[in-house]
Amino acid sequence: MAGKGSADLEQEVLSQGLCTSCGACVNICPYIKVVRDKVAVIEPCGLTEGKCYDFCPRTPTDIAALDKSVFGKTRSDFSLGPYISIEMAQAKNSEVRCRAQYGGVVSALMKYALDTGEIKNAVLTRPFDGAMMPASVVVDESSQSLECAGSNYISSATLAKMNEAAKQGKDSIGLVGIPCQVLALRKMQAAKHETGAKGVKLVIGLFCTWALSYKGFSEFLRGKVDLSQVKRIDIPPPPANIMVVETAAGDIRFSLDEVRKFIKPACGVCYDMTSEFADISVGMVEGIEDWNTLIVRTPQGKRFIDKAKKAGIINTKPLEKTRLEHLKEASSLKKKRAVDAIQKKTNDKKNLLYLRLSAQEKKKFL
Ligand SMILES: Cc1cc2nc3c(=O)[nH]c(=O)nc-3n(C[C@H](O)[C@H](O)[C@H](O)COP(=O)(O)OP(=O)(O)OC[C@H]3O[C@@H](n4cnc5c(N)ncnc54)[C@H](O)[C@@H]3O)c2cc1C
Ligand code: SF4
Ligand code: SF4
Repeated sequence: MAGKGSADLEQEVLSQGLCTSCGACVNICPYIKVVRDKVAVIEPCGLTEGKCYDFCPRTPTDIAALDKSVFGKTRSDFSLGPYISIEMAQAKNSEVRCRAQYGGVVSALMKYALDTGEIKNAVLTRPFDGAMMPASVVVDESSQSLECAGSNYISSATLAKMNEAAKQGKDSIGLVGIPCQVLALRKMQAAKHETGAKGVKLVIGLFCTWALSYKGFSEFLRGKVDLSQVKRIDIPPPPANIMVVETAAGDIRFSLDEVRKFIKPACGVCYDMTSEFADISVGMVEGIEDWNTLIVRTPQGKRFIDKAKKAGIINTKPLEKTRLEHLKEASSLKKKRAVDAIQKKTNDKKNLLYLRLSAQEKKKFL
């Protein structure tokens, strides 16, 4: 991976429509900027060993090597990545559940992590700011973590905020991110460079199928609702094929077919649905609105979840076999779609752009 810098990032990622807006390359040098969800190299710096290139989730990424770095071993489950347990979970506190997207597990865990000193700072995303664009924030009080409950389907440069926090000397950080952000964070932690990512102690990853581009989606919505009135956006599981925008004046429903044209191009080549490199991954449970799917992946994640269960922060129950099978299918489907899209883009079955897969993994998805 060594030997490349911002000119290569521009050529291989940004100009190819592969940027996920994760923010890993922002706030580490003066020449890369983000405005809303658009990232740009404003002047090539000439460095040939750029952190920006090495940290990016869309530059060469060896999945097995990253497995070893995060989990100490390579994966045996090629659909969901390494994990210790998978259950259904729900925040015990009904106020948290009320404000949250689904079961409130993410908000409850982040609040608990701050309350107990597990972390001192949390990098979270405030879902709505009155103009639809999410804002990444650093909070150090547990009450503030509840203000970030809910999902915004536009990606926010969360890691730019994490880089800024680290520059300000903040450490012992907890971070909530979507899979591309979690992947970049782990690349940062595994890199030889000095980086504030090494001060991140707890990583909660969200499930993600796609995110929308700010410009297209906000313009689409502006024509139909007062953006400052948007309270919550939800995408019910298939076969509904709708997006529900909850506003002070009531719910508005759109066909997902109207919205799909605003999906970020980078999402088409994304190989990870369940934040495979997180300590803990959290998503919905299809058809059960106020519960989450909870995947515990690392020993640190397990220790923290065991503590949270004992303290009565979350309830858990087994995830039925059929739901687990369905989750694996959905995740494998995303991987297959990504590989197909990459091969179509490169017009070369062997050129998988950023993805470096083991022979076994290639056998399953190529
Ligand atoms: C872009 C996107 C796509 C998603 N797609 C799926 C999917 O296909 N399937 C699925 O099961 N789940 C998906 N999720 C996750 C789901 O919406 C919930 O976040 C997750 O189930 C946790 O629920 P909760 O009730 O515990 O969350 P809450 O307790 O409400 O906490 C939500 C957390 O999400 C964070 N957040 C909100 N918006 C963003 C953002 N744009 N970027 C990063 N962090 C954010 C907040 O900081 C908060 O900590 C997606 C989330 C996002 C942001
Ligand atoms: S994907 Fe992340 S690291 Fe790569 S160019 Fe975009 S913002 Fe920068
Ligand atoms: S689909 Fe992948 S690239 Fe797109 S926002 Fe989700 S995690 Fe990021």
